[in-house]
Amino acid sequence: MSKSNSKSKQELLEKVKQDILKNLECPLKKTATNIVFGKGNPDAPILFIGEAPGEKEDLAGYPFVGAAGKQLDKLLNSINLTLDDVYIANILKYRPPENRNPSVEEIRSHTPYLIEQIKIIKPKIIATLGNFSTKFVLAKFDCDKMKKIEGISKLHGKPIEIKIDDMAFIVVPLYHPAAILYRPKLRIELENDFFKMKEIIEKKIRLRII
Ligand code: URA
Repeated sequence: MSKSNSKSKQELLEKVKQDILKNLECPLKKTATNIVFGKGNPDAPILFIGEAPGEKEDLAGYPFVGAAGKQLDKLLNSINLTLDDVYIANILKYRPPENRNPSVEEIRSHTPYLIEQIKIIKPKIIATLGNFSTKFVLAKFDCDKMKKIEGISKLHGKPIEIKIDDMAFIVVPLYHPAAILYRPKLRIELENDFFKMKEIIEKKIRLRII
């Protein structure tokens, strides 16, 4: 296929979004205001994966625009990253009522679309925010194996190389930025983990991998 015929990552992601709007069968669709699909640069080498949209995200239609988003912005800033350097998505594409945890059924029905996003973006680094995205990615996208993966308090800040089919990336498990709002002692750990990720990014830049 000639270059002019090949679709951009942005166009491919838009098709996935339309697919969700048309075909995803999930009760959350009825209670949510908007789909929350993703934001940032689809050509970036770093993908952040959160859990699910909250109220602000549901209203805006974009991930991480509320209180947790402000923390994430600060952390990105602290390692000189902007939205141009990363893409940000969630496990769930619609807000669970009262911000409750995602159910297994919801994870099962929403994550095929997240996998599509990952296949299109082809990130070199996936930063997982909190338990749900960490377990999903480290279980190699197998919802049934998520239970076997340790919790984020054990895994945070320990990068792991993962290969799935023809994809290879480093996973950096991180505490969810919302956690530092109700457990301020975690802030220093999350900041340290961001600095570890910065070192990984710089090494990959030196090796011309990204
Ligand atoms: N928390 C998440 O996990 N995702 C968002 O988009 C907002 C808050």
